[in-house]
Amino acid sequence: MPTVVVGAGPSGIETAIELRRRGVDAHVFDAGPLGHTISWWAPGTRWFSSNDRIAIAGVPLNTVDQAKASREEYLNYLRSVVDQFAVPVNTFHRLVSISPIGDQAHDADNRWRLGFRRTLGEASASDKRTTGQSTCEGLAEAEFFVDAHAVVLAVGGTDFPNRLGVPGEELPHVDGYLREIHRYHGRRVLIVGGRNSAVEAAIRLHRGGANVSLCYHREQLPSDGIKYWLRPEIEGLIRSGSIQSYFGARVAEITPSTVTLRAEDLDDAQSRTTIDSDDVLTLIGYRQDQSLFEQLGIVSDSSSGSPLFDAETMETEREGIYVAGTAVGGTQSSHYQVFLENCHDHPRKIADHLCGTRATLPEVSERETLEARDAGLRRRIAWQPES
Ligand SMILES: Cc1cc2nc3c(=O)[nH]c(=O)nc-3n(C[C@H](O)[C@H](O)[C@H](O)COP(=O)(O)OP(=O)(O)OC[C@H]3O[C@@H](n4cnc5c(N)ncnc54)[C@H](O)[C@@H]3O)c2cc1C
Repeated sequence: MPTVVVGAGPSGIETAIELRRRGVDAHVFDAGPLGHTISWWAPGTRWFSSNDRIAIAGVPLNTVDQAKASREEYLNYLRSVVDQFAVPVNTFHRLVSISPIGDQAHDADNRWRLGFRRTLGEASASDKRTTGQSTCEGLAEAEFFVDAHAVVLAVGGTDFPNRLGVPGEELPHVDGYLREIHRYHGRRVLIVGGRNSAVEAAIRLHRGGANVSLCYHREQLPSDGIKYWLRPEIEGLIRSGSIQSYFGARVAEITPSTVTLRAEDLDDAQSRTTIDSDDVLTLIGYRQDQSLFEQLGIVSDSSSGSPLFDAETMETEREGIYVAGTAVGGTQSSHYQVFLENCHDHPRKIADHLCGTRATLPEVSERETLEARDAGLRRRIAWQPES
């Protein structure tokens, strides 16, 4: 009986490969294309993690210049890995419902009925206007069903950009996603945010010929939220006036051609500044679509709304339902804890539990090699977190 992996991001693919290596008939479904989340990054965006930390299934990820992989290089790599292991991936199929089948205790083969909708033609994640609603709302009608013995929810955690909650945010020039740098040439762009994505976008847009301003609610950039190679550059650009900064400020209102900022802890007319702006980029993090976890009743009451699961097996409180990858972190706030780099043990844990024993495939020698590789990676991450 098939096992369904929901999500064709790196974690879902790595999980499907591990399961198939153990003889499990694992099939992957994704609401978008392969590597959907990475596909909506702006062209030319590079991973912050080094290549050995984002490689999956033991397949080395090499780049021609040894630099961190770009979006394009990684998507190319993902396609090759999927082809190499002949992973069955069904793209543009969104899981919209999940329910138990009959008496699960007596039907151990098929336990879950999954309702899917085809999504080709639907707005992609990056086109989606950020209403804050679940993507599954309004789509709750499934078009067809797949029965599965086990389900791995590797659905990630970056479904919607966070919202400012201010008037004018719905205007078409306000965007939660950085697009191709070229489109901003010669334009006045206000970037809201002060962490990696916002800082990296500010630097790239400035180099790409945009007139960039940066608005951040704290008095200075955070000491711990910016990669060490971005910090000197952004600080220099701000010091030299190449990028105009508005620290200790929040957006109060957006119009088609201006943005009004107010002081973080004061909201009177004197504290307000209005600046001209052609584009507004709100790069302030993302939220997870938790509707599937809600259907299953496995949402924790933590602020992240992360799913409840057993860290040894990755199984949730629902028998046969597992979580993998960054999905386990729920909606992560500004201090991200769960990255692809520290999720590589999830596939093995799930396969061990699902297959009932650690002595099954792969061969012991191969397993030892894989375990040594994982232990080495964990050690390197511990000793050198920023790489
Ligand atoms: C600009 C940017 C830079 C980043 N850089 C790094 C980095 O350097 N290092 C790092 O470790 N992480 C980084 N991340 C986070 C990164 O996105 C994740 O580490 C990585 O993509 C996680 O892989 P994943 O498989 O867990 O989830 P994802 O890649 O998010 O995959 C989840 C998949 O599930 C699919 N899905 C969701 N819901 C459904 C549904 N209902 N039905 C069907 N399919 C569904 C989605 O379409 C998606 O393809 C970055 C993120 C951003 C936005």
